[in-house]
Parts: sequence; C-alpha cells; structure tokens
Amino acid sequence: MTWNPVTGCTKISQGCKRCYAERMAHRLEAMGSERYRNGFKVTLHPDLLDVPRRWRQPRIVFVNSMSDLFHEDVPLAYIERVFATMRDCPQHTFQILTKRSERLAQLAPELRWPRNVWMGVSVEDARVLHRISDLQRVPAAVRFLSLEPLIGPLDELPLDGIQWVIVGGESGPKARPLQREWVTSIFHQCRAARVPFFFKQWGGVRKDLTGRTLNGRIYSEMPGTLQPGEQAA
Ligand code: SF4
Repeated sequence: MTWNPVTGCTKISQGCKRCYAERMAHRLEAMGSERYRNGFKVTLHPDLLDVPRRWRQPRIVFVNSMSDLFHEDVPLAYIERVFATMRDCPQHTFQILTKRSERLAQLAPELRWPRNVWMGVSVEDARVLHRISDLQRVPAAVRFLSLEPLIGPLDELPLDGIQWVIVGGESGPKARPLQREWVTSIFHQCRAARVPFFFKQWGGVRKDLTGRTLNGRIYSEMPGTLQPGEQAA
C-alpha cells in the first residue's frame, strides 16, 4: 500500500539517476491527472492526510513512494501532520525512506516517533554512507537501509542500531549492473551483525529474467523474523 501526501522531488545523488517517481509523475501529468498538474515539482496534498485513518484492516504503508518526505520544500509543520496521522493509526505499519538524511537527523528530535513508524535511508554506494550515521541518531523503533539501486560495493556497513537491510539492483533500460560480490559482502555483514536481509532483485534490463535468487535461496527476511542460529548459506 502506498500513501502519497506529498508528490514531486528533486535529484540529490547518483541513486536518483533513473528515478521511477519522476518518470511516473510526468506520465501522469501528460495523462491530465490533477494530482500531477505540477509534474515532478514538490506538491503537498493536505486532502490526503487523513486517508490511512479510514483503513480499518492493518496495512503496511509505504509513505511517499512519489517523493521524499524530508525534502527541503516540505515544511516541518506538514511533516508533523503526517506523523500525527501515523500516530493515530497504530493498526498500520508505516515505512518511510529518505535520501535527505541530514534534514531527517536535524528534524528527528522535533517529531514524536510512534512504534509503528519504520524509518529508512537509501544508500546506493559508499559516497553516501554518511546517511547511515544520520539514521542511527533517529529514535525510530525500526531503522532500515535500502541499498537500492546498488551501484557500488559497500564492504564496511555500520550496522549498529540497524534492524533491517534491503538490497536490490537497478532495473529497466540502461540499468547499471549489480555485482554478485557486492551482494554477498552485504549478506555476510548482515549475518555477522544478525540483521535481517531482504534481497529484492538482481535487476537489469529484464528483471523478470534475472529474478531474486541468491545462492539458490530467496531472502525475504523482515525485522523480527531472523531465526536463532540462522547462518550464512
Ligand atoms: S530522492 Fe527518491 S524520489 Fe527524489 S529524485 Fe531521488 S529517487 Fe526520485
């Protein structure tokens, strides 16, 4: 489930190069969608702030799949309203992902963090490793890393205080290739630190052909699901 009380963004690092949200926003704008009348420019949608309150069944909600909640054009007062909705909906689990880790760390003390909010940062290569230390200062119940699209090795991940790692390669035309040894290095670091590991995809031009099997297994671990004694395959 996605919930987009903000749409639009600007590129900030190499991981943004083939931003799916940008392509989708322009497509929807061309189709005349009122929500995307500003294309990929940051746009607040306060009329959507209450939507999760209407969902009775518990859901896993990805917040702002079409934007970055901690973008500098999203005012703190608005982020607080997003958090108020998440606090009022303990039946749902909300996952937020940002590349604006400096602003996240700066604003985190101003926000009240309920246990149902999982906070993550995207890290595509070692040039943006500092995002992890920013995340480690955030008092979220679950802190996670999205290493996707992985475009370089990450052989020294600081995993203290991190509860989940997701890895994936880029997909689509001109996808930058994912190396097997980058993935296995991250896998072994996660096992050593006992951090659940979720391998999303190899990616490539045809992700349906490359799949998501690593060493003959599918890894879909989630926080709290790692079995005692689970070891490297
Ligand atoms: S931060 Fe995310 S949404 Fe924003 S441009 Fe980069 S990839 Fe796209």
